[in-house]
Amino acid sequence: MKLTYRSLPLELRDTFRITREASDHRDNVLVSLVDRTGAEGLGEAAPSRFYSQTAASVTQQLADVSLSDVGDPLFLDDILAPLRVQLQDHSSAMSAIDIALHDLVGKKLGLPLYRLLGLNPDKVPATSFTIGIASLDEIRRKTEAAAGFPILKVKLGADNDREIISTIREVSSAALRIDANAAWTVEETLANARWLQDEGVELLEQPLPKNDLDGYRRLMDSTPLPIIADESACTPEDVVRLRGCVHGVNIKLSKCGGLRPALQMIHVARAQDMQVMIGCFIESSLGIAAAAHLLPLCDYADLDGHLLICHDPFRGLEVENAKLILPDRPGIGVWAAEQVP
Ligand code: MG
Repeated sequence: MKLTYRSLPLELRDTFRITREASDHRDNVLVSLVDRTGAEGLGEAAPSRFYSQTAASVTQQLADVSLSDVGDPLFLDDILAPLRVQLQDHSSAMSAIDIALHDLVGKKLGLPLYRLLGLNPDKVPATSFTIGIASLDEIRRKTEAAAGFPILKVKLGADNDREIISTIREVSSAALRIDANAAWTVEETLANARWLQDEGVELLEQPLPKNDLDGYRRLMDSTPLPIIADESACTPEDVVRLRGCVHGVNIKLSKCGGLRPALQMIHVARAQDMQVMIGCFIESSLGIAAAAHLLPLCDYADLDGHLLICHDPFRGLEVENAKLILPDRPGIGVWAAEQVP
């Protein structure tokens, strides 16, 4: 099997700001796998500096990957297990290969990924749409523009969190999910959870720092809102550690290393009676569509990364009434914009 890769630059429609960083541009990496019959699978890496990954480090890691000995691409575990050891610090590079291999296998078998996984495409929850940290005027404008989405994910951890929420509430009655991206203490989280509950907030994502599991345990005793771990939940082992600390986990392919570890995380979470959210980074609709095929297994969808960029280089993933329509073409089911399918 032949592995090639190239940079996949993405421009954001608006500056995307969370409590610790802001960006107008993302450098993702596009991966292609071609087997001996000429079948091709595509995958996307969305590296995040928070996890010490960049497009440069991803391509550096991919340069050392050899798949020339791979025979049957349907031996997914045999192919991916040694790569998971080699790329253990580069989950986004691992994810791109894992997605590309699933795309290739789906195309060879003539099945969309959700069929390959045995999932019902009608069981897809509506996705939230993200409102990043911005000026109050901008937040009002973005909230009005997101009127088609019944659920908004609001980034907090700014110094004017209350004003952000009242500005949104002036123009929207959407359900709100809050993501503080690790900016709060236990005491701040409990105080904020009380007034946020009155504002129609349905959950709090990652209020505390990544490794503050004791803090999360304390929160579980008294929080009025469900707590979902994102930065704290990168691997299946993390989900085991988070038992009794949070109500659920936000799973992202570039964070965990692809579809197979994501499935493991979902099963571990369910075995521990935890909720499941499928989330994303800023990605083209290739990476988003790959994650979307897992949506029938989850409670919450947070897959709007491709809606935040200007020129999505892929086609085939539609959104209707805030629900992603799982592509019914073989594999991931999207194609490059410049290619007629
Ligand atoms: Mg988050």
